[in-house]
Amino acid sequence: MATKGDHPSNDPSNDPSNDPKLEDERGLNRRDFVKTGVAAGLGAGAGALVEPGEAQAQVSATGAEQTVWDYEVDVVIAGGGCAGLTAAIRARDLGASVLVVDQNFDLGGRMLHSGALVSLGGADPVQLRDMKGESDDEGLVTVDPLENPEELDDSVDLLFTDLTDWSVVDPKAQSPYRYNERELARSWAENCPATRQFLMDNYVRFARISGTHGGGGLSRARAAQCFLMLGDRTDMKAGTITAEDAGVADPERTSAFAPVQMTNATRTAGPNAVSNGVALARPLEFSAREKGVEFMLHRSFDELVREQPSTGKVLGITAHYSPRQHPETGELLQSYWQNGNVDERRETVNIRARQAVILASGGHGGNPEVRSMFYPALREPAFPTSGLALQGPGGQDASALIAGLRVGANLAGMQQNLSYGTTFHITTRLGTRDAYTSMMPGHPTFGFRASAGVNVGNTGFEEFIAVNQVGKRFFSEVRLPARPGLNRYPGDRGAPGRGLAHTPLDWRNCRKEWVREMYNYDHGLDAALAINEGSEAPDYYSGPLWAVFDQDAVERTGWELRYPYVSDNGYFFQADTIEELAQKIEADHEFQRVPLSYLVDTVATWNGYVEDGADPEFERHEDAPMNRIATPPFYALSIMVIWHDSYGGLRVNGRQQVVDMQGQVIPGLYAGGEAVGGFNKHGLGKGHVHGYIAGTQAVEEPSS
Ligand SMILES: Cc1cc2nc3c(=O)[nH]c(=O)nc-3n(C[C@H](O)[C@H](O)[C@H](O)COP(=O)(O)OP(=O)(O)OC[C@H]3O[C@@H](n4cnc5c(N)ncnc54)[C@H](O)[C@@H]3O)c2cc1C
Repeated sequence: MATKGDHPSNDPSNDPSNDPKLEDERGLNRRDFVKTGVAAGLGAGAGALVEPGEAQAQVSATGAEQTVWDYEVDVVIAGGGCAGLTAAIRARDLGASVLVVDQNFDLGGRMLHSGALVSLGGADPVQLRDMKGESDDEGLVTVDPLENPEELDDSVDLLFTDLTDWSVVDPKAQSPYRYNERELARSWAENCPATRQFLMDNYVRFARISGTHGGGGLSRARAAQCFLMLGDRTDMKAGTITAEDAGVADPERTSAFAPVQMTNATRTAGPNAVSNGVALARPLEFSAREKGVEFMLHRSFDELVREQPSTGKVLGITAHYSPRQHPETGELLQSYWQNGNVDERRETVNIRARQAVILASGGHGGNPEVRSMFYPALREPAFPTSGLALQGPGGQDASALIAGLRVGANLAGMQQNLSYGTTFHITTRLGTRDAYTSMMPGHPTFGFRASAGVNVGNTGFEEFIAVNQVGKRFFSEVRLPARPGLNRYPGDRGAPGRGLAHTPLDWRNCRKEWVREMYNYDHGLDAALAINEGSEAPDYYSGPLWAVFDQDAVERTGWELRYPYVSDNGYFFQADTIEELAQKIEADHEFQRVPLSYLVDTVATWNGYVEDGADPEFERHEDAPMNRIATPPFYALSIMVIWHDSYGGLRVNGRQQVVDMQGQVIPGLYAGGEAVGGFNKHGLGKGHVHGYIAGTQAVEEPSS
C-alpha cells in the first residue's frame, strides 16, 4: 500500500509558498509561536492566530461569565466537510484567517465518503462546456457530452422555479418543493454557477453532466461526477492518483487516502478516470492547506459563545478534545496531510472569531434522541447514520442544531426529513452495523466496522427470512429494501427536457389521478421499526433485525461468508441449530436486549409455508421463490436501517445567516450543509453552495 511518503509532489508543505513564515500576514513566526503559546497556556502552532499576550486580553462580556480566549482568528468553522471546506477556502481567498475545527482525525466528512455526484445548475460552467461539446481545460474529459445541448439550456430563473414548484408530487404524495424557503432557493440558484467554477478553481475536476441528480430532489440540478486519473503518482495539482491510493489495485483493500474504493468513470470522463468523494474532498483539502487554512482536528465543537445568552453577536466557540484512536493499536489517528494542523490536546479550548462562526458540522442522523423528534421509531440506537466507522460517533451528532438552539436559533424544514426517498431505508448490505459504505481494510478506521458486510442486492432478500428482535417475521422480505421512487412529472420519464413539456406551477401536475399514479410508498420500514413483544418500557425500542438462512442459501447465492465481508463482531452468527443461533445472537449482539423466543417456531412455520407453496402471513408466494431453511449450518446476518441525510436544521436566510425565533439574524453566525433546514435538496450541491455563500458573507462582517 502506498504511504504518505510516496507522494512528495502531493505534499503542499513542499511548496515554498506554503512556508508558514511567508504565509503569516502578521509576521508571526509560527514555530516560535508554538513554544511561546504553549508556555503561556495558549494556542499552539497557528500563524494566523492571535499573539499570546493579546489573547489573554480578549475577554468577552458574557454577563456574569467571562470567557478567556485560547485562540483568535477571523473566521472559525465547525466541521471540515463539504460545506466547511468550501467556506474555509472561500473566506481565506477573500483574505480572512480561518481555523476549522473537526471532531474527526481527518478532513472531508461524509463528502470524502460520498459518490461525488455534485448537482448544481442555472447554466453553470460545466453545463456550458458540455453544451458546446468542449473538453475541460486540461483535456482530461475525452468522452462526448451525454446530454443534448437543448436539455442543458438552463437559467437561474428556471432552476429557481424548479426548486419552488409546489405542483410536483413525490411517491409519498407530498409536494417536496412546496416548503422550500424562497429566499434560500433563490440564493442557492444564483450561486450555483459561481460555486461550480470555484470548485474547479480548487483542483476539482468534473466529468460530463449525466442527467439530473437521481434522488437529488430537483429536475434541473445537473449532476456531474468528480474524477481523478489513474497515474503513477497521487498529485492533486496534476489530477492523478495511484491505483493503490484509489483502492482499485486490490478488490478487498482500500487506502488511507480513499476510505472507499473509487469507481470506474470511463463513461462520464474517459478511460483511466476514477470517481467518488475522494476526487472531491482531497482536492479541496489540498487547496485549503495550500492556501493557509488551519485545522484543529480531534476537536469537537460544543457551544457558541454569544455576548448575552440570546442577544448580541456570536463571539466564538468552545470545543473539547475528541481523540480518535486506532481501533487495534490505540494510537492517535493522524490526518493524511498534516500541514496547517494545530496540535492542541487540552480538554477544552475557547476560540474567538473576530468576524464570524460558520457551523458546518453536518446533520442530526447520528443522534437518536434528536432524530426521533421527527421520526420517533428511529429512537432505536441499534441503527446508526451513514459513515459510522469513518466519522465516529461524533459525526452527524446534531451539534450545530443543539448549540444553535442554546443561543436562540430557530429550526426549519424538520418535516423535510420525511420527504426524501432515501433519507432512511433498509440497506441491502448485511452483516455490518456500518452498512452504508463499501469501505474495505486498508483505511485506518476499517476496524471500527470490522466487517465490510455482504451486499446481497434486492434479490438477495428472496433467500432468507427477516425477523425482528423476538425472532418473528414482520413483512414480506422481498419488499423490505424497496425505496420510494424519485419525483416525477406527469407523463414524463423523470425530468422536463427529456421529451416532456412540463408546465411548472400548474395545479394539474398534482391532480388526483397523478397522485394516485405516483403514490408507491411501501411500509416495510415502519413494520421493521414497530413495537413488538420484546419492546420494553421506558423506550419501547424495536430492537435489531436479522436475516436468517441456511447452508443451501449460501450455495444458491455464492455469498462469501468470510473476512473481510463478515467477522466475529456481533453482526454475523453461525450455528448448527436454530436454537443455538438464537442463543448466540442474544449473547453477543450489543443491541439484542431480549431472547429471540419465537425464532425456532418461526423457522418451522416458514418451512411449512414452503411445503404448501403459500405464505399466508406476508404473501411471499406472489413475489418470490420460497426455500426451506433446513440444512445446517444456519446463519444470521444483521439487517440495518440507515438514516442517510438530514433535511431539517437551523433556519438561515439567503446569506446563510442563522435566524432566531423572532426572525432576526443572529449576528456573526452562519451555517450550511446538513446543519441547516428549509431546503429540500440532497447532499453535496446543497453543501458546497451554502459553504460558498457563507464564506463570502462571513468576511463582510465587521471585525471585533
Ligand atoms: C456513502 C455516501 C454517499 C453519498 N453520495 C453523495 C453523492 O453522490 N452526491 C451528493 O450530493 N451527496 C452524497 N452524499 C451526501 C453528502 O456526502 C452529504 O450530504 C454532505 O457531505 C453533507 O455536507 P456537510 O458539510 O453538511 O457534512 P459533512 O460533509 O459530513 O461534514 C461535516 C463535518 O463536520 C464534522 N463534525 C461533526 N460534528 C462536529 C462537531 N461537533 N465539531 C466539529 N466537527 C464536527 C464531521 O467530522 C465532518 O467532517 C453521500 C453520503 C454518503 C454517506
